[in-house]
Amino acid sequence: SVPLSFFAGIGGASRAGVLIKGANYLEILAKTNTLVFDKTGTLTQGNFEVTVIHPEKLDKNELLHLTAHVERYSKHPIANSLRKAYGDEADGCEVDDIQEISGRGIQALVNGRIVCVGNSKMMDDVGAKWHACHRIGTCIHVAIDGEYAGHIVISDIIKENSKQAISALKKQGIKQMIMLTGDTQKVAENVAKTLQLDSFFAELLPADKVQKVEELLKAKKSPSETLAFVGDGINDAPVLSRADIGIAMGAMGSDAAIEAADIVLMDDNPLKISTAMNVAKKCMRIVH
Ligand code: ADP
Ligand code: MG
Repeated sequence: SVPLSFFAGIGGASRAGVLIKGANYLEILAKTNTLVFDKTGTLTQGNFEVTVIHPEKLDKNELLHLTAHVERYSKHPIANSLRKAYGDEADGCEVDDIQEISGRGIQALVNGRIVCVGNSKMMDDVGAKWHACHRIGTCIHVAIDGEYAGHIVISDIIKENSKQAISALKKQGIKQMIMLTGDTQKVAENVAKTLQLDSFFAELLPADKVQKVEELLKAKKSPSETLAFVGDGINDAPVLSRADIGIAMGAMGSDAAIEAADIVLMDDNPLKISTAMNVAKKCMRIVH
């Protein structure tokens, strides 16, 4: 039977904006010693600002225009930001054959031309010879009909409460904090250093994130230690279900992630992870 204090814990947590899908998760959460984070939208705001527009054979506005039209069909934080930079109104472009490739980018047929927007791996896939970006930031490459058309650099900022959340979690006994991201090495290193994370792995596809978590699970020293994954939802469903405990951040995130998660944080504040941890530890103290 489930001890009464578990129900009190779940009730108290939900008032604090932490939805816990079952009493057993409180116990698992209380034993968590490894926390694995997704970057974009979890530790960073996912609100990118355009810092560089570097076209190859067209003008800046045309590059941004084509990019924004393709990104209209993606829910990724990068897409929202690029759309916002251009202005959200549609203007008579005909867009067809939309194909989003998770962890890489999106492509579509725009007025009869194949416009492909994404990272360098995506450019390699379509055979476009991309040029490296020299600024720190997330580089979004564009190819038109397989030919490189330039890049747009966007920069994301670390959430205001991320640093405080990491140090609170350390004090709560989390031994190991690791960030996984599909973004570049340079960007990841910058975030990991600023937040004083123990380690990070960059340029991962969603399937690579699952594999990393599996490796970390295998490396566990004792079954009484557990691993939690925290993600904002976009592409994170598989890794949320693979971790001992999956925490989805922001109830407005993707339905698939909310479904796959064991704990759902109602807003985007990373301090809520620490709140959830507190509730779990308190419950376990009452039970034992
Ligand atoms: P993270 O692990 O940081 O949450 P994702 O796995 O969601 O990032 O995406 C990894 C990378 O794939 C992004 O940094 C970006 O380069 C590229 N990407 C994904 N979706 C898009 C998109 N809609 N438009 C452009 N690039 C994208
Ligand atoms: Mg993400």
